[in-house]
Amino acid sequence: MRPDPSLKWMVLMLVLAQLLACWLVRGLAWHWLLFWAYTLSGCVNHSLTLAIQDISHNAAFGTACAARNRWLAVFANLPVGVPYAASFKKYHVDHHSYLGGDGLDVDVPTCLEGWFFCTPARKLLWLVLQPFFYSLRPLCVHSRAVTRIEVLNALVQLVADVAIFALWGLKPVVYLLASSFLGLGLHPISGHFVAEHYMFLKGHETYSYYGPLNGSPSMWATAWSTTTSPASQAANCPWCGRSPPSTTTTCRSTTPG
Ligand SMILES: [Zn+2]
Repeated sequence: MRPDPSLKWMVLMLVLAQLLACWLVRGLAWHWLLFWAYTLSGCVNHSLTLAIQDISHNAAFGTACAARNRWLAVFANLPVGVPYAASFKKYHVDHHSYLGGDGLDVDVPTCLEGWFFCTPARKLLWLVLQPFFYSLRPLCVHSRAVTRIEVLNALVQLVADVAIFALWGLKPVVYLLASSFLGLGLHPISGHFVAEHYMFLKGHETYSYYGPLNGSPSMWATAWSTTTSPASQAANCPWCGRSPPSTTTTCRSTTPG
């Protein structure tokens, strides 16, 4: 498996951009703050969550440097506002190992979700609340013991949030949290969640995306938002979601794990 040497630099650039944004929005009116949180920062935070997905496959430094990957994920987590990178890694392994498996793949909606969110209006609400379902579902479906890196992830995130609040007040903190909620909810680049993880044709849980959000220059805004079907089969594939043609080739020759 080849690590992606550019990944750590893209993460660094996005985190620094969000830090600059925190300074810029400190005196912004609330309605403009929410506007930029949705249109710009939502894309950046969404992109960071997908970087965390790639890093959870050790794509930044390779499997030989697993600890470095874990800490880069904690760093990429900072603009998201809430600690989740370490927990994501823990449950994401199951997603690949038991793709579509009830009670094991925590990306699959529960029966209760399927039963309740069955009308267009309720499905819309479900899309809006998707960040909550994504983050809370593992606790209900397949809860696992808290790990050391999860605790450290939470402590680092708490220190960062408190530091931003102390430096620039409440608005930057709300800006980051709103960006995560809006960018991972009812947002154009969140469409890949539905395309990847929900079955429209019996036996095909995921779909590849080759649309305009998959290419440059939009790549800068949605760098990793294009995970393909093969990506879901290859847990250690570093290029998944980056370049569809080579993804197909690379992932087929990569052992899931
Ligand atoms: Zn993955």
